[in-house]
Amino acid sequence: MSALVLEYYLLLRSVLRAKPHLRACLTRCRHCRIFFLTHPRNAGRHNLRCPFGCRQAHRKQTAAQRSAAYYREPRGRRKKSDLNQRRPRKYCAPRPPSGPPRVSAPKPRPTRWNLAMVEHVRMVSSLIEGRRVSTSQVLEMLARVLRQLTIGRRRKIDQTVAWLNEQPP
Ligand SMILES: [Zn+2]
Repeated sequence: MSALVLEYYLLLRSVLRAKPHLRACLTRCRHCRIFFLTHPRNAGRHNLRCPFGCRQAHRKQTAAQRSAAYYREPRGRRKKSDLNQRRPRKYCAPRPPSGPPRVSAPKPRPTRWNLAMVEHVRMVSSLIEGRRVSTSQVLEMLARVLRQLTIGRRRKIDQTVAWLNEQPP
């Protein structure tokens, strides 16, 4: 994980060297302290959370707090009791599908991207390139990078294994 952060920081540094005007957008997560680029409208703010998990975690937490507060109120308690009444009491086993079982080759599942991350990459790419980069362009690029990364990683792991074979610890 720390290797990944180091790689990210090296990349961030080279971006800031090439595009010094983006320094204004550099900020630090108030929770985990990682540096990241924020949208120019947030430039200069230091109370932001990073898009690598802290922002989402915080959002989830405040939503949970809101809902807990709501269900403590009499109005919310009534609602919850309604919901519980409506819930089926017994476990109903799912019915087996009728008809002959369909046999089909498993399709390769498309990668499920974290949408908050995709949006961050899209925003940063737009900043770096100085034009609007669309979400579909980001997804295309990510798919391409991921393919190359897998090959590169595999090579790195092979090298490490070879090295360990030559020089056992
Ligand atoms: Zn963070």
